[in-house]
Amino acid sequence: MTGERENSGQCYLCRGALKYGKATVPFVVGDSVIVIKKVPAEICQRCNEPYMAGEVVDKITALLDNFEPFRAEVLVVSYEEDLPAVAEPAVQVDA
Ligand SMILES: [Zn+2]
Repeated sequence: MTGERENSGQCYLCRGALKYGKATVPFVVGDSVIVIKKVPAEICQRCNEPYMAGEVVDKITALLDNFEPFRAEVLVVSYEEDLPAVAEPAVQVDA
């Protein structure tokens, strides 16, 4: 127990069970929407709300900063392909 967050396997919104997986998460940056696929997160099994670790959010924030100059209205990127791996369970699936 870290005592900082009570995010222990339960959804903050609906109290559904959380399960580790890969989420597709849209982010709004200015007038653009950047959709990031394969984001490692704990996902609510009831309402699909993704909960991302702080280090994951940091990586995404850096990614969004990099993409800002492109000014695309909608951009879809993959977390795994466009970002270096962060500390997460070593689950590699060969496509
Ligand atoms: Zn939920």
